[in-house]
Amino acid sequence: MVDRYQRVTSSGPGRAIARRLGLPRPAVLPRHRNGDPPVPGPVLLGGDGALAAAVRTALDGTGVEIVAGAERPAALVFDSGDIAGPAGLRALHAFFTGRVRSVRTGGRILVLCRPPDGADPAADIARRALTGFVRSLGKEVGRGITVSLLRVASGADAGIGSTVRFLLSPRSAYVSGQVIDVGPAAVPDSDPAAPLAGRTAVVTGAAQGIGAAIAETLARDGARVVCLDVPAQGEALAAVANRIAGVALHLDITADDAPATLAGYLTERYGGVDVLVHNAGVLRDRTLAKMTEAEWDIVLTVNLVAQQAITAGLVADGLLGKESRVVCLSSLNGIAGAAGQTNYATSKAGVIGLVEAYAPVLAARGGTINAVAPGFIETRMTATMPLAVREIGRRANSLAQGGLPVDVAEAVAWLAQPGSAGITGQTVRVCGQSMLGA
Ligand code: NAD
Repeated sequence: MVDRYQRVTSSGPGRAIARRLGLPRPAVLPRHRNGDPPVPGPVLLGGDGALAAAVRTALDGTGVEIVAGAERPAALVFDSGDIAGPAGLRALHAFFTGRVRSVRTGGRILVLCRPPDGADPAADIARRALTGFVRSLGKEVGRGITVSLLRVASGADAGIGSTVRFLLSPRSAYVSGQVIDVGPAAVPDSDPAAPLAGRTAVVTGAAQGIGAAIAETLARDGARVVCLDVPAQGEALAAVANRIAGVALHLDITADDAPATLAGYLTERYGGVDVLVHNAGVLRDRTLAKMTEAEWDIVLTVNLVAQQAITAGLVADGLLGKESRVVCLSSLNGIAGAAGQTNYATSKAGVIGLVEAYAPVLAARGGTINAVAPGFIETRMTATMPLAVREIGRRANSLAQGGLPVDVAEAVAWLAQPGSAGITGQTVRVCGQSMLGA
């Protein structure tokens, strides 16, 4: 999808005017299509430490070409794993400066390192410094290229496959400026072409928008999907479920007996659940001075209280199986805050608290829980915003455009994979590296 401004600025005269006026010229972002290779061209790999070797292993058998030199690489990957101190940061300049312009439009830049671990102050300083490098390069590189930092704990090298393939592929079109930590974890075997085969997933709020895209993407990856939404969404929900050979479940997640009803349904039909996506959410925007109790309550109850009650219920009943994956929808506004959204931002910051609090609980059973925080996504909700607000939301990010529901869905699907076992308690922004928030 290309918005009107993008269409104008990608035409000859529009491009010239935008350049003269210093206006953003958003690139058309490539997206994954079924049957595409994980990376649409050669990967230029720099550095030859253990993390470079782990990247080679991650891309082994995928048909992706890893080269030491290429005219138009689809991705630049640099292994900073052996950086010993601040003086070593010079290697970034040496590797990237002459190469950064060669990356294809819509390409990827990925830096890998070890996380700071307190063992050696000089190494920890340099590792921390890499976050500033990645975030700045993401803001200046342009042409729809994304930049990420992957921090791989010692002992976790074998567990980076799903993440490397996601971050280098068009599936991560709207993920940039992110720092992702992979910790040591047992990584179950799965087929990269259908990583969720044989798994059962529940997606709340699946009748439309981002939830429908998540249900479709999980089904594409092989999951049996239970599409859940309020009874009033009956027809729309049935349409989504039918399209993906899934099941429709009408349930208001705020009902007192919702956790027990869902638990009973899952026990009877599937014996448990492997992937739980807390996507249902509502907005009732108003400044706090004018906000009614009802507007406060509904947002907190749908977006946070119900998510917690359902998670707690399924954990207590032992229905979140071994290797379960829980993904919760937070929001950029839960990180940055937003005027008129004290209720919404409280709930979405609470969601980040929820994943941090439950990560150790689920880890005990080999499970993970993470949040995805979307920025400006092109949905019915954002289409109804006043034009000026909408344009600011769309352009105030490094990619100068809104994301699509599928971009959020792809991030959820990556975290839902068995192979993403080493990622937990984290919040990944899908916001085109928005200028808002930390
Ligand atoms: P949407 O309003 O299009 O869809 C939300 C769905 O949740 C609807 O189908 C609705 O019926 C369902 N729902 C609401 N209350 C429910 C309840 N009590 N029980 C069961 N289902 C219920 O929203 P969207 O834009 O697709 O957003 C999906 C999620 O992403 C939300 O959590 C939202 O806060 C978050 N998000 C969206 C954006 C964006 O730009 N659209 C940005 C940041 C975060």
